Amino acid sequence: MKIVEIKVKKILGESKITDYTINPYIGCQHSCFYCYSKHYTRKFLKEKEEWGKFVYVKVNAAKILEKEIRKKKKGSVYLSSLTDPYQPIEKKYKITREILDVLAKNNWKVIIQTKSSLVLRDLDILKKFEEIEVGFTITTLNENLRKIIEPFSSSIKERINALKKLKKENIRTFLFVGPLIFPFVNFEEIRKLIEFGLKNFDEVFVDKFRVKNDLMKEWKGFIAKSFGREKERIWESLVKSNGFWKNVRLNLKKEFGKEIILLF
Ligand code: SF4
Repeated sequence: MKIVEIKVKKILGESKITDYTINPYIGCQHSCFYCYSKHYTRKFLKEKEEWGKFVYVKVNAAKILEKEIRKKKKGSVYLSSLTDPYQPIEKKYKITREILDVLAKNNWKVIIQTKSSLVLRDLDILKKFEEIEVGFTITTLNENLRKIIEPFSSSIKERINALKKLKKENIRTFLFVGPLIFPFVNFEEIRKLIEFGLKNFDEVFVDKFRVKNDLMKEWKGFIAKSFGREKERIWESLVKSNGFWKNVRLNLKKEFGKEIILLF
C-alpha cells in the first residue's frame, strides 16, 4: 500500500448534496470494484497505482479547517464524497476524528456515509453534535459476494450492528441501498434491504448503478478475473438500459411511495 502524507491549502469543498464536502484522504483502501470515486479522482490526480492501493493522507486537514471555518458561512458538511472517511488507515491517522472535533466545536451539521464500523470509535464526538446523520452503504446481503466486490470494508453484519448502535445512541441514521448492481442483487433482496432499513433507521436512500465509460475496461477485467466462466452472463446483466432503470424506479415507487428517497 502506497501511503503519501500531504499538506493541503483548503479542505472545505463544494458539494451538490450538502453545503460542503470534506475528503480527509485521496484514494480509498476499501477498493470496491464499482467505485465511481476513482473516475473523479483521476481528473485531478495522476497516480499509477491501482485504485485501493494508494492513499494520500491530508495530515493538516483539521488545522486548515479551523482557519477556513472562521471565514465560511456556516453550513452542512458531507463526509465524504470521494473517499471513505473511515477506511482502515483512519485507525492510525485519525484525520476524520480531528475534523469532526473541529466541526462539533463550531456546531456545524455533518452527514457521514461509510462502509466501516470504525465510525463507532468516534461516538464520543458524534454525540456532541446538535445535527448529525450517519449512514451505511449496503449493496448486497450476500457476505461472500461482499468480500469480492468490496473486499476491505466492514462485513454486512458489522455495518448493520454499528448502525443499530448509533440509533440506540439517538444519532440519526440512514441506510444507503446502492448502487443497485444487477445481477448481484435481485428485487427480492432489494425489497428485503429496504424493508429492513425502513423498520430500523430514519431514512432509506436507493440509487442505481451508473456506468462510467472510462471504467468499463477495468470493470470487464474484474468480472473476468472474479467470475470466470460466468463472466459473459454477468457483464451483460450489469449494463442496463435507461428503460430498465425506469421500470425499477416505477416498481420501487409503487411499492414504497414516499417512504424511500430514490436518487434516480
Ligand atoms: S468505500 Fe466508497 S470511496 Fe471507498 S472504494 Fe468503496 S465506493 Fe469507493
